[in-house]
Amino acid sequence: MVDIEKIHKKTNGHCHFCGDRVELTAYGNKHNLITGKWALDHVIYKSAGGKNKSENYLPICQSCNRARWNRKGKNLRELITIGFVFKTVLAKKAGKHKVVHEIFAKYKKNLEKRRHRRLHSSGANRTLV
Ligand SMILES: [Zn+2]
Repeated sequence: MVDIEKIHKKTNGHCHFCGDRVELTAYGNKHNLITGKWALDHVIYKSAGGKNKSENYLPICQSCNRARWNRKGKNLRELITIGFVFKTVLAKKAGKHKVVHEIFAKYKKNLEKRRHRRLHSSGANRTLV
């Protein structure tokens, strides 16, 4: 049996990945909203023999869970490094970095479109947070 409260306490109510606060009552992905929701993250992946038990879970916010997906080790570190480089470039004026700014703007626009479709696709009465 999985003890949600016990897992939440392991990190004193924070996402183990980014450190943001996650409220115990915001567990799950009801209404498919990302903001403020959290999930269970396997410490040892199921594919590596990890069990679906409280001892093998840590809290992770939905944003981190979706961004990380199933990446781990070198792939995850590489993704973080690319993100750091990309963010550093975005902090500079477009100028010679115009292409990077355009790629990021396009990415954000597509992300919003996908999120909008997801929120309005099932026909359920949903409330945006
Ligand atoms: Zn997080």
